[in-house]
Amino acid sequence: MTQQNYKDAIKDPIFLTITEAAAELNVACYVIGGFVRDFLLKRGTPKDIDIVAVGSGIELAQKVASKLPKKPKVSVFKNFGTAMLKYGDLELEFVGARKESYHRDSRNPIVENGTLEDDQNRRDFTINAMAISLNKENYGDLIDPFNGIADLESKTIKTPLEPGITYSDDPLRMMRAIRFATQLQFKIEDNSFASILNNKERIKIISKERIVDEINKIMSSEKPSIGFALLHKSELLPFILPELSALQGIEEVEGHKHKDNFWHTLEVVDNISVHTENLWLRWAALLHDIGKAPTKKFHKKIGWTFRGHEFVGSKMVYKLFKRLRMPLNDKMKYVQKMVLMSSRPIVLSEDFVTDSAVRRLVFDAGENIEDLMTLCEADITTKNTKKQRKYQNNFKLVRQKIVEVEERDHVRNFQPPITGEQIMQTFNLKPSKEIGILKDAIKEAILEGTIPNEYDAAYNFMLQKGKELGL
Ligand code: ATP
Ligand code: MG
Repeated sequence: MTQQNYKDAIKDPIFLTITEAAAELNVACYVIGGFVRDFLLKRGTPKDIDIVAVGSGIELAQKVASKLPKKPKVSVFKNFGTAMLKYGDLELEFVGARKESYHRDSRNPIVENGTLEDDQNRRDFTINAMAISLNKENYGDLIDPFNGIADLESKTIKTPLEPGITYSDDPLRMMRAIRFATQLQFKIEDNSFASILNNKERIKIISKERIVDEINKIMSSEKPSIGFALLHKSELLPFILPELSALQGIEEVEGHKHKDNFWHTLEVVDNISVHTENLWLRWAALLHDIGKAPTKKFHKKIGWTFRGHEFVGSKMVYKLFKRLRMPLNDKMKYVQKMVLMSSRPIVLSEDFVTDSAVRRLVFDAGENIEDLMTLCEADITTKNTKKQRKYQNNFKLVRQKIVEVEERDHVRNFQPPITGEQIMQTFNLKPSKEIGILKDAIKEAILEGTIPNEYDAAYNFMLQKGKELGL
């Protein structure tokens, strides 16, 4: 085979600096992993650069830093034998070539110094094990012992060594396989996939944070459903997101069927991903129906119902985030709110839309109204083109109404036109429950459309209500 050379990949002057530094230390070094893969895939020039040194990665990093004009700071991770430095918009990670052996209970290997070949053997996939030489004698040569380049061409995810060993050693690789399959739209090779099925239970030794990192990468891909379908087929999903697994399946009683809410959900996630990069809105799409499993009921006359699934689902969001050690902050609250409100615009679009219903929707959704509409539009997965068109038209009407009502009534970031202070002054009141009653009455009157959202109208309304209360 002719030696392939990829000097093109390493045109950035930083690589020459690395070459010089390595020559002075008399160690061989290579750029390896994601950088090489993404260059060959023409996914742009990656900003993360992994360098492997046959010797000390930390010393090489320090030598490189000392040669750079601004002498960037080197962060050393002694326990891992790695060092990192930032240079412009590049992030360079240095590691010494190593040989790894694993213990059954942990994904942390026993590490010894090794050759480049040892280091390539420990890599997760053939497409991630390719190296380009930074050494003077063969600068730019591709070192590809497992023919990763052929796997790039055939779009295959495959392990360098026996897959059973690779996945059992470090079960995180199962998630990584599925994540790369999703990001790159590659197929996981059959033997590999069979090994993932065999090793699925070992996912239990992986920390929740790492699992969530991979899920978030799946979720941020162009077509997240690829990943979730693979998690389902590999039987990993019940260990990770059992709430989603529980949505799978169609039940039939007395000729009544409900839709398969798992596959429906995946369609919704793909739909929304066309319209938004917002990770948390994508999460909301993934979780919008999780309340359907625990609320599912069959009724003789009306068939299947999922009453209150939005409320139950929003409560489940908290438990799920907590279990996965995801942030319990405003992002979680946002997802809860989206799940809780996920049926509101649909109900509107089915009916004749009144102004007051739209005002209430805008008031309750607040600044998230656009996101909520995006979620609901993504939720239309019917294959019946007539229905599809009808729903889409109705949503268009709802959107129009939202604009009209907003222009007129400004209820999105509702600030009551009359404050509690003003009520107290007008009626000469001390803090008391009447103030709350009056404030609520004004808000209700505005949302119902009895009065416009304006000071004078609200003031008169307050006087009249006060009279009624005997103030
Ligand atoms: P990206 O940065 O786009 O997610 P990447 O391939 O650079 O992709 P990283 O997680 O940055 O992935 O890892 C860098 C390289 O380290 C990989 O290409 C792979 O060779 C190796 N690697 C990372 N994690 C593992 C693992 N769990 N097992 C084996 N090799 C791994
Ligand atoms: Mg990387």
